[in-house]
Amino acid sequence: MRIVVTGGAGFIGSHLCDRLLADGHEVIAIDNLVTGQAENIAQLAGHERFRYIRHDVSNFIFVPGKVDLIWHLASPASPNPASPYGYPQLPIQTLKVGALGTHNALGLARANQAVFLLTSTSEVYGDPQVHPQREDYWGHVDPVGPRSMYDEAKRFAEAITTAYHRYHGLDTRIARVFNTYGPRMRLDDGRVVPNFLCQALANQALTIYGDGEQTRSFCYIDDLIEGLSRLMITQVNDPLNLGNPHEITVRELAEIVIRLTGSRSGIELLSDRRGPADPQQRRPDISRAKELLDWEPRIDLEDGLRRTIEDFRRRL
Ligand code: UDP
Repeated sequence: MRIVVTGGAGFIGSHLCDRLLADGHEVIAIDNLVTGQAENIAQLAGHERFRYIRHDVSNFIFVPGKVDLIWHLASPASPNPASPYGYPQLPIQTLKVGALGTHNALGLARANQAVFLLTSTSEVYGDPQVHPQREDYWGHVDPVGPRSMYDEAKRFAEAITTAYHRYHGLDTRIARVFNTYGPRMRLDDGRVVPNFLCQALANQALTIYGDGEQTRSFCYIDDLIEGLSRLMITQVNDPLNLGNPHEITVRELAEIVIRLTGSRSGIELLSDRRGPADPQQRRPDISRAKELLDWEPRIDLEDGLRRTIEDFRRRL
């Protein structure tokens, strides 16, 4: 098949391109490199079935020839306001790519009658009042809060994807991706796993925001790619959670990272860095994905972290 991946030079996008090429498809990756990195797809340069187009999908997308599948991943995704790659520093781009970029990607899909998959986010649930989060929970989101540029952009993206499905009959998928980690994350991305790994490998204190009792559930990239791939070939038009249901506190994560890296680092509590919009707990209910895709994560946290530490050591 001939496949377009928006955000193809990003962390998830580049792993997806690898997988699609390995499965024998032709892949056109589109990325403006605002948060993606050219080195993520450097290994694909010269591949006969791979093409990269540097383009901001918030502007009209032109792809010559027939397209069979569109994976729309393009978006900043780190909530860290201290990182230049976090969406709080890129609020207008984040809103534009979620709204205009999704509209353009849907337009390309409609013109080709291609199957369209949107990577949405657990952030559509906001700071959830229901735990764990099931797909039928509507969320607890502040439309003008510090994360609103991302949360609302993705909520709009889900709405317009659903509108194209209902009104234009487009075959669409919506994956709500929970915290995912692995090789190729930006070292300076600002999210908790890259921050902790860089700090531990440099024997610097791991910065815990708040008291560290907030929880997250971390999915290794290969598991996520498998879930996304299964979703694409399964006729599920309603949103589907993809993530790892193993929930831990941020403090526990810090302790595991220190142990696995053999670091001399301690822990530093930065209470003021934890904004009011930082969700207190997050864990996906993946019963629907289990039932409909026969999918669940296979790689446990320590195993995934070991693989990620190897990659970070190489790049630091
Ligand atoms: N966090 C932290 N130290 C860091 C970076 C993040 O304690 O150096 C916390 C952050 O406050 C949040 C959790 O780790 O509670 C996960 O943050 P991340 O930025 O990875 O993404 P989120 O899940 O909040 O979207």
